[in-house]
Amino acid sequence: MICPRIEIDLDKIEENTRALVTLLSGRGIDVTGVTKATLGSAEVAKAMLAGGVVRLGDSRIDNLEALRDAGIQAPLTLLRSPTPDQADRTVACASISQVSELEIAKALSAAAGRVGAIHGLVLMVELGDLREGVMPEDVLALARHISCTPHVTLTGLGTNLACRAGIVPTAENMGELSALAVLLESELGLRLPIVSGGNSANLAWAIAAPAGRINDLRLGESILLGCDPLTRKPLHGLHTDAFSLVVPVIESLAKPTAPRGDTGEAAFGVPTPMHERGIITQTIASIGRQDVDPEGLMPPGGVSLLAASSDHLVLETQHRLAPGAEIRFGLDYSALLRAMTSPFIVTIFAAAKHHPSSLSSSLPTIRLTNGHE
Ligand SMILES: *Cc1c(COP(=O)(O)O)cnc(C)c1O
Repeated sequence: MICPRIEIDLDKIEENTRALVTLLSGRGIDVTGVTKATLGSAEVAKAMLAGGVVRLGDSRIDNLEALRDAGIQAPLTLLRSPTPDQADRTVACASISQVSELEIAKALSAAAGRVGAIHGLVLMVELGDLREGVMPEDVLALARHISCTPHVTLTGLGTNLACRAGIVPTAENMGELSALAVLLESELGLRLPIVSGGNSANLAWAIAAPAGRINDLRLGESILLGCDPLTRKPLHGLHTDAFSLVVPVIESLAKPTAPRGDTGEAAFGVPTPMHERGIITQTIASIGRQDVDPEGLMPPGGVSLLAASSDHLVLETQHRLAPGAEIRFGLDYSALLRAMTSPFIVTIFAAAKHHPSSLSSSLPTIRLTNGHE
């Protein structure tokens, strides 16, 4: 098949999941498998479930609906607050939503009431990264309101760090979350089943420090790409190559390295300066910024990225490649997210037929080191 495609090795995703689930279960932490970077792929979701996640989470309702349509029965969490008008769709596909506004809680309450359901709410608290969540001093009042709202139940407390401001999860901010959970439980006389400490950026904290009341992490990147988002370094024992992007060549010609003529702005702003290095083999692969974050592509040996416009990836290769020849790239999170969303890239599953016995025998021994080696 000659078209740009993402190849996904589901066995590697299952193995990464199992390694992380095993590691965290020793800390009393469950894993919510996050599917959003794969556009809510049901196959990826099944691999995560086979690897031991207790539930699935996604930030987009459309992705959760796709999982339900594909027959996934596992509990689903909506990781980003819905808008009020999405409340009916939310309660129809998710059992839990992460929220930070009373109006949203009320909309979800009304929607759940209409279908005779109880919807779970995880109240998000802002602990420094300045994305979603109520300020810590407002958590108790909001939790009190929610606990008196019909058709919804206060399932837990959560936070999210390292996404906007790059704030690192530490014993201090995680301790603050634990303390808030304890406060809510004693003030409101209830038990919070879920205290969700964060995302893949929490792994280093989870390995190093006692978890306190935190009993859930929402993991996407570490399962899918086997790396720590804080350092973007591989986590030892995890596969970093579960995804690859295969792109056909459409041109490969000898060309100079410096452009010719007066220069203005290029299609995507000021071009990086090009110095004359003589004649090279310049190769074009049929993909561009519309499909992928070119900075997040890892080309194979002997191939380097020169530039990217909307639809052309301009590479330097050591030899001329025949049109139709394929180049295989690794992807970082940003490249994966965008590539999975491009309608011009097909997704295929490269895993060998699922053999549970051979899988478990090839399980990596995990030695998470947080990339500091
Ligand atoms: C995307 C997301 C996650 C998962 O993040 P990873 O870094 O991929 O593990 C967790 N929580 C929320 C709220 C998210 O939006």
